[in-house]
Amino acid sequence: MSLQQHAEKKYDPLDATLKFVDRKDDLDPLGDDEDSLRAEMSCGHAVTPESLTLWCRSQLDEGIYKFRCPAIVEGTKQCNKEWSYTEVRRLADLTVEEIKYFEETIASLATAQYCEIQPCPQCKTNVERKDLSNLCVQCTICTADQEKTYQFCWQCLKQWKGPGPRSDRCDNNGCTNKDLQLLQMCKNISLPQFERKKRATDQQTLSFQDSYCQNLSDKRIKNEPSGSSGEEIRPSRYHPELCGQERRLRSSVFRR
Ligand SMILES: [Zn+2]
Ligand SMILES: [Zn+2]
Ligand SMILES: [Zn+2]
Repeated sequence: MSLQQHAEKKYDPLDATLKFVDRKDDLDPLGDDEDSLRAEMSCGHAVTPESLTLWCRSQLDEGIYKFRCPAIVEGTKQCNKEWSYTEVRRLADLTVEEIKYFEETIASLATAQYCEIQPCPQCKTNVERKDLSNLCVQCTICTADQEKTYQFCWQCLKQWKGPGPRSDRCDNNGCTNKDLQLLQMCKNISLPQFERKKRATDQQTLSFQDSYCQNLSDKRIKNEPSGSSGEEIRPSRYHPELCGQERRLRSSVFRR
């Protein structure tokens, strides 16, 4: 695809979504294309669909997929404000071929930079997940296309359901962490080479916990008003988690 094929891109003067300005094209101040309408970008600089396409194409060719305004301000400084792809696509009046080229290039450049990438289940564009603890991910392409937020679940790859952000699952039926589920269903297996070491650790843990339990029991006995029954001074009353852990460890040791 060559840009020359679309050299005559021009804004529709009746397009009410654009803000037309009567200034020179800030991306091509020396250009003499006076009869091409200029529109204002979000940063306030004026572009033509042609100059914007050329600039962004040149950026992609250099491996840059986050588009920043190159307009010169205050002598030598660049504006440098970032434009969203959606804004570029609209104001550069990208053709169908250009959209395909832009989106594929942006996706592959982004993939090279991050590994948390999955195709959007709806438009198949690669989407990057920035917050690795959040399964709710927004597809910017679908969101722009539908003009309403499109979010999908990183885990079940269905449209996001329920409140977000969440790290465990969405509200879609059957959305589970398969790895975690597998792990939970796994039976304990015995690895002989670790057995002796584990047994020693278990015993240490047990003796520590025994003395810990005993300590607490002693304290409790000391503070207990006279006449209370011995039944109540069970260690598990004081630290059920630790004692629960102890019971589990004890039974696993005794099973061997
Ligand atoms: Zn600018
Ligand atoms: Zn999408
Ligand atoms: Zn899900």
